[in-house]
Amino acid sequence: MISFKGVNKWYGDFQVLKNINLNIAKGEVVVVCGPSGSGKSTMIRCINRLEPIQEGDITVDGMNVSDPCTNMTLLRAEVGFVFQQFNLYPHMTVIENITLAPTMVRGMSRGEATTIGMDLLKKVDIPDKAGAYPSQLSGGQQQRVAIARGLAMQPKIMLFDEPTSALDPEMINEVLDVMKSLAREGMTMICVTHEMGFAREVADRVIFMDEGNLVEENTPEEFFNNPQSDRTKDFLSKIL
Ligand code: ADP
Ligand code: MG
Repeated sequence: MISFKGVNKWYGDFQVLKNINLNIAKGEVVVVCGPSGSGKSTMIRCINRLEPIQEGDITVDGMNVSDPCTNMTLLRAEVGFVFQQFNLYPHMTVIENITLAPTMVRGMSRGEATTIGMDLLKKVDIPDKAGAYPSQLSGGQQQRVAIARGLAMQPKIMLFDEPTSALDPEMINEVLDVMKSLAREGMTMICVTHEMGFAREVADRVIFMDEGNLVEENTPEEFFNNPQSDRTKDFLSKIL
């Protein structure tokens, strides 16, 4: 579903991604962790070309992300993205936030998009918030709206960039629970997160990045119980 082949990326003179090779199968849940500045956000932003790469290839569901002929609207419609800062449109209600892209990009009728949107609000457990504005919601609720908005395009892949890092501790689990149910339903997911309980419970694979390198990848069990590299051991000793 997602493949990185020899991907190198620079910001100016600074090499942020170093020869990344990675294959993610349909339905796989991959957790990415690593120190701040190691290139985690950059790596997942390259998947829908929020960032360009200079060398190598990334393919998403058979589409080459760097190929100028690739239909980026189509590619981006297949990839939902949830950010640390929820990035909801503040002047739109919850249901308007959710139905905007399906009506504008997919050409869905407002009625159909609203029906799908209301189902998604049930799924993320806030069906009564359709008419609310983002500022009237808690952080956990806003992030669940952001997930529902991502799902409204009926994507094949969901990318999460530290979705719980900006939340008060008591709201983290309500967001992780939504992500866990998505994982169990077979969504292909890449989650940048330091929530290691989540990784142990639902990840098929955990990837560790450091200084732009993909240092280690393993099953959660092996990753946590038997980390291979010194850098991974050092990182785990700091966060666990
Ligand atoms: P992470 O998500 O692991 O914290 P990032 O991918 O955000 O790492 O950043 C990796 C490195 O690239 C950092 O050193 C960061 O300062 C740098 N960086 C990120 N975005 C840009 C940018 N737009 N321009 C220049 N440098 C950047
Ligand atoms: Mg980041």
